[in-house]
Amino acid sequence: MGLIVQKYGGTSVGTVERIQAVAQRVQATVNQGHGVVVVVSAMGKTTDGLVQLAHEITANPSRREMDMLLATGEQVSIALVSMALQELGQPAISMTGAQVGIITEAIHSRARILQIATDRIERHLKDGKVVVIAGFQGISSIEDLEITTLGRGGSDTSAVALAAALQADCCEIYTDVPGILTTDPRLVPEAQLMAEITCDEMLELASLGAKVLHPRAVEIARNYGVMLVVRSSWTDDPGTRVLAPAYQPRRIEGLEIVHPVDCVEYDRDQARIALLRVPDQPGVAARLFGEIASQDLDVDLIIQSIHEGNTNDIAFTVVQASLLRAEAVAEALIPTLAGEGAREGACEVMIDRAIAKVSIAGAGMIGRPGIAAQMFSTLAAAGINIQMISTSEVKVSCVVAADDCDRAVEALCQAFEVGSQPAAKAIGPVSDVPPVRGVALDLNQAQLAIRSIPDRPGMAAKVFQLLAAHQISVDMIIQSQRCRVIDGVTTRDIAFTVAEGDARQAQACLQAAAGELGFREVVVNTAIAKVSAVGAGMVGRPGVAACMFRALAAEQINIQMITTSEIKVSCVVAQAEGVRALQAIHRAFKLEAAGTRVAREAAIGASPG
Ligand code: ADP
Ligand code: ASP
Ligand code: MG
Repeated sequence: MGLIVQKYGGTSVGTVERIQAVAQRVQATVNQGHGVVVVVSAMGKTTDGLVQLAHEITANPSRREMDMLLATGEQVSIALVSMALQELGQPAISMTGAQVGIITEAIHSRARILQIATDRIERHLKDGKVVVIAGFQGISSIEDLEITTLGRGGSDTSAVALAAALQADCCEIYTDVPGILTTDPRLVPEAQLMAEITCDEMLELASLGAKVLHPRAVEIARNYGVMLVVRSSWTDDPGTRVLAPAYQPRRIEGLEIVHPVDCVEYDRDQARIALLRVPDQPGVAARLFGEIASQDLDVDLIIQSIHEGNTNDIAFTVVQASLLRAEAVAEALIPTLAGEGAREGACEVMIDRAIAKVSIAGAGMIGRPGIAAQMFSTLAAAGINIQMISTSEVKVSCVVAADDCDRAVEALCQAFEVGSQPAAKAIGPVSDVPPVRGVALDLNQAQLAIRSIPDRPGMAAKVFQLLAAHQISVDMIIQSQRCRVIDGVTTRDIAFTVAEGDARQAQACLQAAAGELGFREVVVNTAIAKVSAVGAGMVGRPGVAACMFRALAAEQINIQMITTSEIKVSCVVAQAEGVRALQAIHRAFKLEAAGTRVAREAAIGASPG
């Protein structure tokens, strides 16, 4: 007999009929001989309705009262689901987060789970009851009993955390789509169901707005090896398996906060090529990386910073053995760009043979801006200048001078109290893994550009510490390649993206520090969209980035920023072009033919009751 945690989302408990259907599924699972813990969300759009009510009373509700209000939604569902089970003759008991003892940080509206008491749940299970638990909520401590919530969509996180604490055999997330699709079916009706996806891939996708799974739920599954499945509430189809690494026994104390970083990785076999002042128009990146891919050269990081005037810089890294050939491709491209509006002689290729990449890796950095900031300040304290930065959900990588590599690794290992290892080298493509698993669009981002910040160790650290102190999470971070000398000081630009809602606050707190940090201005652009392609199979397969850039160029969509990690390529484009960009890259990677075709009605949740 196993223990299964089943989580039902808002739509799945949206009406009395659906609650009854949930009760039947739960009872069927019990009848198969399993213990069942049920986690539920608020019914339908209840939470949205409560937010709306609060805003009718005040434009600025206190976070504490918001938590008090929003937590009521789940309390309604747990009682009704329990009653429905009892009505079927199945003993059941409902419990709030506080009654279970789901202890969180004392931070309202986005608390992380610290500890879960399992004794009460286990006692009820032993008595043959189904335990129905309110998702999305907890309490700050047994003494304070302050009700907290985990952030919108947080019931998924409650469910996976409970599965980890109870060492359940499986955590099933029931929702209104057949599982995880290659992209959001509301934007791309051709989206296909995936049979499986790794936690790392899902983390990258989920945090980009693939709201089917709360990213923190995936972090916990990865860190605690929880077997996780996303399935439809309306069918018995198997859904999508989210593959976690093998189970690692870990303490439950500090559940969501103790393991932000697993290890420090380094790669000394890197060289950098930068193209400066290339025309800022569709197709340039596509041609450059198309040509590089056709030579079968694998690029690692790609970064395109914000434009200056009507030109852009693109920088990328390759293994040292590929440098000469990649350089030749770049040099050959330059003369052809003159016809595309580049001023004669303005473009140039810059090479750096002696660089290294150091990274911190781990699932636990999402929504914790202090982690990247700590990496930057650690490097600064060691007097190491950061030449390029690339961020993803599971990794922050910095390119530094090769001579600084050992010191950087040592300092980072000390700061994060972890060991180090060489970065895994691609050993060619793994044949049965698709290069791109899914694509995602994030329309709720804004771009900030800090113009002309002095180029010396510690500047990135100061900027991102400042933002972290205001709890502002930063997504893409890009430093310009080009330097500008102002009053004898070498300066660069740093651009990054934040959630749109944080943009004004980020701008204000940076602007206030302009004098101290010595930069000119902070420019905000909220009319951006970020499109990304994610897949563990892109490692060691040249041409994935080129394919994406080509698809955008064919649609005449200009790429404003590029950043990559091992398993993701992201481009910032104009917001108005976001959906078209998503559709174009979904087609480009032939994802409509990738998996099981999902009936459109099922995909968009127009389901039977
Ligand atoms: P629940 O209430 O069950 O938690 P959500 O609305 O939070 O459900 O999440 C499911 C929704 O996520 C789907 O209806 C779908 O529109 C959306 N979605 C976005 N991206 C994806 C994706 N890649 N795969 C599946 N669903 C997605
Ligand atoms: N009810 C909460 C929300 O709507 C939590 C959840 O559904 O996961 O965000
Ligand atoms: Mg959800």
